[in-house]
Amino acid sequence: MQELLIATRNPGKLREFAAIFAGLDLQLRTLDELGIVDEVAETGATFAANATLKAEQYRDLSGLPTLADDSGLEVAVLDGAPGVYSARYGGVTGEAQLRYLLDQLRDVPWHARLARFVCVIALAHPSHPTELVEGVLPGVIECEPKGTGGFGYDPLFYLIDEDKTMAELPPERKNAISHRARAAHAARAILAHWFTP
Ligand code: IMP
Repeated sequence: MQELLIATRNPGKLREFAAIFAGLDLQLRTLDELGIVDEVAETGATFAANATLKAEQYRDLSGLPTLADDSGLEVAVLDGAPGVYSARYGGVTGEAQLRYLLDQLRDVPWHARLARFVCVIALAHPSHPTELVEGVLPGVIECEPKGTGGFGYDPLFYLIDEDKTMAELPPERKNAISHRARAAHAARAILAHWFTP
């Protein structure tokens, strides 16, 4: 059976990818299983650049076809910030990061708080060119955090169609509609093409 390295140390992401790639004739491997301890610096200016850096470096280290992703939040009125700096926006994390984002949007009215979660997946192969796919989920930045599920910016990310923040959704629903799920479905089509005998 063909192997695919999922280059993440996040067990939640691994489960999401495994669910979406179910049915493909593929054995998913992890960095830990392969004993790869190297960390790839996310020095790129875009999600695509970071996902490509990770996928190609871990492909080179493992010799296996490799999937890597990079994701974050883009707020329209902030010119796409925090973008690739989502994890360390404002130099803070957790609740303080939500407060920092709310401060940046203090005088911005509801109709102008458009945002999107973006996930780019890079697929690197020992003998094919690297492929990139993107998943996007549009929403609106709430005026106060709501809900306790998910992680990161989820309590501030309001989904118009669901009439809930991402943190108020059951995990199965979040995983079905997320930017990562959308990108993973697009990646599935490429994997099916790569690995069809
Ligand atoms: P990474 O792709 O795991 O490096 O994600 C970078 C950062 O983007 C995270 O630390 C979060 O701040 C933000 N982010 C990515 N995906 C999500 C999500 O599904 N919900 C909330 N925040 C997210």
